[in-house]
Formats: sequence, structure tokens, C-alpha cells
Amino acid sequence: MTVTIDPNAGFCFGVTNAIKAACEYLRDNDELFCLGELVHNEEEMNKLKQIGLKIINHDNLNAISSSVILFRAHGEPAATYTKVRGQDNRIIDATCPIVKALQKKVIESYNNNERIFIYGKLSHPEIQGIIGNIDNDAVVFTDIDEISYLKPGDNITLYSQTTMSLDDYKDIINKLTERGINVKAINSVCNSVSKRREALIDFCRNHDVIIFVAGKNSSNGKSLFSACKEINPNSHLISSVDEINMDWFKGYDTVGISGATSTPLDLLEKVKMTIYG
Ligand code: SF4
Repeated sequence: MTVTIDPNAGFCFGVTNAIKAACEYLRDNDELFCLGELVHNEEEMNKLKQIGLKIINHDNLNAISSSVILFRAHGEPAATYTKVRGQDNRIIDATCPIVKALQKKVIESYNNNERIFIYGKLSHPEIQGIIGNIDNDAVVFTDIDEISYLKPGDNITLYSQTTMSLDDYKDIINKLTERGINVKAINSVCNSVSKRREALIDFCRNHDVIIFVAGKNSSNGKSLFSACKEINPNSHLISSVDEINMDWFKGYDTVGISGATSTPLDLLEKVKMTIYG
């Protein structure tokens, strides 16, 4: 049996930059606060916590002053910057440039009085960061049925959370247009995710069994795994090597290992070694 790691797997550049920023600061300092999990991967988080990264959330932000706080790749609304700086903290801003650009565009649409719709998950921190800048004045949806109230002739501006599927986003545009709705579509799906999805589909076709490794809270992990499962029903989602079931491989010749944009390559190597026994 051969076991191959997807050559396109590993951190995306937004996650790489955020981890680099944290490690650089912690090289010369003992403590760094991070607003939310820096990366949706328990093993990577444990490594960062060991060198001094402390995870905080918006609820306990009030208690942090005169400290250094890192904003992760998902981004934060302007109000968080004001609050954090108002308590004499310094910000290390690791917001992914792609997310920053999306926030800027959505603010422009809002200032232009456009009716904003975002294909994404309302609870996701990236979405909270975006809509927090526009008084939450946007409709966020994951299923086109949620916006069935739109009528022919309505004008909307349609964005997407960066980690959604580009095909699904295009499909939504087509369906809305067919219904006579005027859609100003501003494609905000991250290229790094959409290219990875395309390559992953080929990878899944070419292997008998797929092991997809992602943190339980990873949004792009869930979305990329569903693409795997669609192409190859022998796909299994795990977050650590302990979840591997060796029965999955009985009678098969090729195993492919891939992961989310927040899954470290060394974890994929560990999975490979575990499968080889
Ligand atoms: S998935 Fe794309 S938008 Fe999100 S952090 Fe990575 S590079 Fe940035």
C-alpha cells in the first residue's frame, strides 16, 4: 500500500503569516495574547501555548490592559481596534490581506447604500469581523432558500466568506439571476482555497482512500472535506492520529492524505507514519 501526502496541503499564506508573527514576538517575549484561536488545530495551538501564546476572547478583553494582543487572520471589526487600543494595549495585526481587502470593499458597498448579501456562516469570526464594520447591516446566508423572499428586479451586492466554495457561489449567482434579481457579484472567495479545492478533487479521484485532517472548528476543513467525500466516498475526516482506524485501509492500494489551510504538514507526516505503522 502506498501513502501519499497531497502536494498542495499545508498552511495557506494567511495562517503562515499569523503564526510567523506570533513566533517572532515570542522569540524575545514571554507572553502574547491572541484574540481567538490562532489556528484551528489543537497540536499547533499546544506548541504555540508552550512558548507563551495565551488565548483570550471578546468577553475577557475588558480585563486586558497594557499588553500586546495579536489579531489573527480572520480579522476584527474597527470597534475591536478602538477598544483594545483604548485599554493601552498594542496590537500585532495578523489579519490576512485578503480578508482586509474584503472588509474594505464591504464598507465601500455599505457607504454606497448597497443592499449587501454575504454567502457564509453568520457565526464565523471572519463574518463577524466584516459585518461588525457595517452595523451588521448585511444578510448572511448559507442556503439560497434563506433568501427566497427576494423578488425580480431587486438589486443586491453579493459577497462570499473567503473559504466558501467558488462553484457554490457561482451557482447562487446563476440561480438569483435566473429569478430576475440584479446581482452585483464581488467574488471574494480566496484563491488559495479555491485552487486547493480543484487540486484536491483530482487527488481524491486518484486514491482509493482519503484521510482528511482538520481541526473540529475549521470552516474550510469542513467544506474541503465535503468536496473529498463527494468525489471519493472512502474519505475520512480526522483531527488527530488517535482517530485513525486501520480497518479503513484493508483491501486498498493507495491512500491519500490532505488537510485544511490550517493543518500543519508535520501532522500530515505523523498521519502517514501511523498508517505505515
Ligand atoms: S484561507 Fe485565504 S483568506 Fe483565509 S487566511 Fe488563508 S489565505 Fe487568507
